[in-house]
Amino acid sequence: MDEAIERAAEILVNQHYVVCLTGAGMSVESGIRPFRGPGGIWTEHGQPPLDDYRRFVRDPVAYWKNLLEPSGIYRELYQALEQAQPHRGHDALAALERCGVVRYIITQNIDDLHRKSGSVHVSEIHGNYSLCRCISCGTRFKRMDVDVSLLPPRCPVCSGLVKSDVVIFGEPIPEDSGRECVEQVECADCMLLVGTSACVYPAAGFPKQVVESGGMLIEIGPHPTEITDLCQLVLRGTAAKTLPLLADAVHARIANGKQK
Ligand SMILES: [Zn+2]
Repeated sequence: MDEAIERAAEILVNQHYVVCLTGAGMSVESGIRPFRGPGGIWTEHGQPPLDDYRRFVRDPVAYWKNLLEPSGIYRELYQALEQAQPHRGHDALAALERCGVVRYIITQNIDDLHRKSGSVHVSEIHGNYSLCRCISCGTRFKRMDVDVSLLPPRCPVCSGLVKSDVVIFGEPIPEDSGRECVEQVECADCMLLVGTSACVYPAAGFPKQVVESGGMLIEIGPHPTEITDLCQLVLRGTAAKTLPLLADAVHARIANGKQK
């Protein structure tokens, strides 16, 4: 493992533009349940309908009542997200950004933990639970600032319909985050995959695109995934355990002037 960490650190320090893609496995050690798989929220409560977004547009009041239902699954989920704290893996990624090695994080997580731990350049491709967004002009608001006394809430900028920033089934990826991701993936000559099997599009296309343009993939996660075979290097371990080791190895290389 030590050797693999050193090799990964060497790659990260030498590549020009490292983008990190994180998924549900990044957050489990912060106590956040995944949506899919064993113990997943949808596994227990059932997956939302695939036309969820169309239902929201047709009946936004029902969407909001469901979201605000005190005993509902969403209240429970959002409360858990509010209490969650970043772990050492989040902190390590933030440190790797500060030293200029990781340029950008694309996350499929909605939990806000990358920002909470100090990462700055982050695209939340599936939205952020702590925000709401106008579906007409794309303006985002803090969830607590949205007046839900009259449903559905309307955008103060354009009077458009406001929903949670969390992307639901059938909803297009918000234009700004979609564009940022495309731009970042085009720049990337290395992608660090953490806790994701990258099986959900559009994120599923990103690692493939990096490989096709000659870039490298490093996977961090406890289990093999569908993209393991595409990766030049695999670090088998959890995010909270592996990322701090990797960040230490990177910092040691930089301190010793080993880069480039
Ligand atoms: Zn608006």
